[in-house]
Amino acid sequence: MKKQSRRSSAMKSARSKGNVPSSPDRGVPEHLSVFFSRQDPRFDVIFEAVDALPIDDTHCHLITDQDAVTTPQRFLERISLTGFPIPRYFPDGVYVSWLNGDEKTKYDLNKTFDIQNKVDGITANIAESIFIKFLVKELASYLGCRPTLNEVIEARNERGSDYWSYVNGLFRDTKYKNIMLETGVLDGRGPEAISLFEDAILPCQSYRISRIEQVQGELFGLDISFDEFEDRYIKRLHEILDGNGNFGKPSYGMKSYLLPDIGLIRPLYERRPAELSWQALRKSYDSRNNLDREESAQVTKDLCRYTFTLALEECLKRDMPMQIHTGDGEAPWVILRNQDPFYLEEVCRFDKDNMLRMPKIIPLHAGYPSVGKAAWLSHLYPNCYFELSIMTPLVHQNLYERYLQVMEAVPLSKILFASDAFHVPELYWLSGRWGKRYLAQALTNYVAGGSLNIEEAIEAAKMILYKNNRAVYNLDLA
Ligand SMILES: [Zn+2]
Repeated sequence: MKKQSRRSSAMKSARSKGNVPSSPDRGVPEHLSVFFSRQDPRFDVIFEAVDALPIDDTHCHLITDQDAVTTPQRFLERISLTGFPIPRYFPDGVYVSWLNGDEKTKYDLNKTFDIQNKVDGITANIAESIFIKFLVKELASYLGCRPTLNEVIEARNERGSDYWSYVNGLFRDTKYKNIMLETGVLDGRGPEAISLFEDAILPCQSYRISRIEQVQGELFGLDISFDEFEDRYIKRLHEILDGNGNFGKPSYGMKSYLLPDIGLIRPLYERRPAELSWQALRKSYDSRNNLDREESAQVTKDLCRYTFTLALEECLKRDMPMQIHTGDGEAPWVILRNQDPFYLEEVCRFDKDNMLRMPKIIPLHAGYPSVGKAAWLSHLYPNCYFELSIMTPLVHQNLYERYLQVMEAVPLSKILFASDAFHVPELYWLSGRWGKRYLAQALTNYVAGGSLNIEEAIEAAKMILYKNNRAVYNLDLA
């Protein structure tokens, strides 16, 4: 009781200053600390152990210095779910010209496209999400400022002159140890930006993952025969998986973005349909901008099924996993209805000659919002894993319930922590912070219910936060 009242008065005085301090013993803000301890006293023990663990991030992206100094509005745009793709709501190039233009350019473009009004409307709605309201409070406690978006951005901008130290601090605070960095998204920068980021986050180690679409992007525009395309594509796969073909470094697996384009992915082993698709691509290449997203996906469907199959064969030979974009948004350019986790069943099977060949498949983004389907696919197919990103951190407090749902179906040895962080480093930090907190809460629930003892709960956290990642990518052999 005494402890409780001391805490309440501390909270009152902190609130009157508008600043909610962290509680050093729990690592969670004071108001949440009270909430958690009310639930079950074992939370403290489990949380303390989980919070001390390192993190491996199974799927994440590059951070550049272009958000070192920002505005509240631009920060909202960059951190929102899937990085709200405002440029896609205008004709090609228009939004970037507006963003970087002088007053006259902005005035003219606003007149034609009503850009400022649209951006105001979009970001005003993002600001009203509980995700943003919660992250403002969390960041304020980290940055030592009042919990308003403006003051958080001001405090963040003060650190912008030494941005990489700020980024490094966020990684250390959440104890990132290894990241599997998908190098297919350079956020408008060149490959040198990857090394800059990798150096900045040390001692956290970065292991690169190549994206099939990046290799295709190098080759799809070339006016060459299908035979030559195939030779070059396979040569690039070998460079990437056996040499330093991922911008001068090795890759530890591949990633595919095919699912949102075509839905159900059936492996394609025959060359002829792929060759016809290649010829159709050559014929339509110059007028491809006239095709809508569905027509465009149909032209390359068989070609991409074939390139996907070749890449998965190479991964299988090397015991490397294939990450596959599943669930998630990225509207308006993806076809949302295609992203169902069950559309990956044929690639999990990867059957040939009456044999299920079991390549390592990692459906990304927890299949969100079809979390149950992604979990069930992983339950049924021994070679199919479950990855927690996007849902972590964007679901925030209800991660607790989602983690229970996932652990109910997926063996603990197949659940992989990931952030899918991109654009701004705070997404790494929030994923680590909230991932550990709500994982500890979910594990406490299992301990309270008698399913796990405390040692088993902490071992489960170790598996999910880093052990499974090291096993699936064979990092201990690296
Ligand atoms: Zn991603």
